[in-house]
Amino acid sequence: MQHAFPPPKESVYSAFSTTNERSWGLKAARLVEIGMPLAVEDVPEPEPGPRDAVVQVEYEGICRTDWHTWVGDWTWIGLAPALPITMGHEFAGTVTAVGSEVTTVRSGDRVAVPFHEACGKCPYCRSGRTNLCDALEFLGMTHDGGYAEYVRVLGADLNCVRLPDAVAFDAAAALGCRFMTAWHALQHQAGVRGGEWLAVHGVGGIGLSAVQIGAALGAGVVAVDIDDRKLAAAREQGAAFVINAREGDVVEAVKQATGGGAHVALGGLGTATLVQAAIRSLRKGGRLVQVGLTSREEQGIVGIPLDEVIEAELSIIGSVGNPHVHLPALLSLVADGRLDPSGLVTERVGLEHAHGVLERMTNFDTIGFSLIDSF
Ligand SMILES: [Zn+2]
Ligand SMILES: [Zn+2]
Repeated sequence: MQHAFPPPKESVYSAFSTTNERSWGLKAARLVEIGMPLAVEDVPEPEPGPRDAVVQVEYEGICRTDWHTWVGDWTWIGLAPALPITMGHEFAGTVTAVGSEVTTVRSGDRVAVPFHEACGKCPYCRSGRTNLCDALEFLGMTHDGGYAEYVRVLGADLNCVRLPDAVAFDAAAALGCRFMTAWHALQHQAGVRGGEWLAVHGVGGIGLSAVQIGAALGAGVVAVDIDDRKLAAAREQGAAFVINAREGDVVEAVKQATGGGAHVALGGLGTATLVQAAIRSLRKGGRLVQVGLTSREEQGIVGIPLDEVIEAELSIIGSVGNPHVHLPALLSLVADGRLDPSGLVTERVGLEHAHGVLERMTNFDTIGFSLIDSF
């Protein structure tokens, strides 16, 4: 499963004939009931619709979004999957079949897939902002995702992004969610420039990606978390300063480290404490780019120090996913070795152990990226 260039499968039928010889069938880890252990069970191989592709998954990331889905969060923004559903939205793999109307993707292509599958036709897609598509589909949320040997990708010509040969599958797996989300937030939404101070609040998967990307963009990075192990990982990824929020006043500590406040803050979680500290630790004219959604406690509503936002001319910027059009540039930076998402992978587990990773996420007890590597 870990070879970089697997032999392409000839067609979906050859995959069928192979799997028919197996006694255990095709496996998927499925969410059957909110909060209950995932069911690892046999499923039929997906078949592509006319515009779709089927991808054989090499690696699948276990993302905090999956945890939120598992515990039943985000119903307040309409994100509640019909159960049962195969989890997962961060994978890379090899195309094994395409539908009759697919023109640019072929069996054997090595691809990554953005977690937000776009339609390609709506006004947002036509203006390049595919992450804001009016008809978004979400892998592992609106249809079966990548905690499985095979996954159906909708709208393959747009949503299957071919990988350069130099980008390995494990590097590409998390590109489709956490890494590209950090990239879009810093590069396009906040416009981080070399020489600026970037404070990353919350060093989860997106936050750790942001530390690496921010350092590569030439920013001085300050990482804030409550877990010393995550702060140590942030140091390894290039953070100049790390601050444990349990050990004193975060705002003062960031201001001291940055000589008066960060130019840019990235909010990796949507908790009130974190968002408020991120805003207050900006210098005048600073900008907060917020990528972390809220959780059950806030249910989407977080108070902000509005007067301070006005008086200091602060900007608060939302950022979600990454427009497809920006992926080739990101992939070429990975291919050149200037960015290294595989360096954030800390753990590889079999499909049957995915649920255990989700359970550990309840206490924020995972660091960097955990990948499923066998099915
Ligand atoms: Zn994700
Ligand atoms: Zn669209």
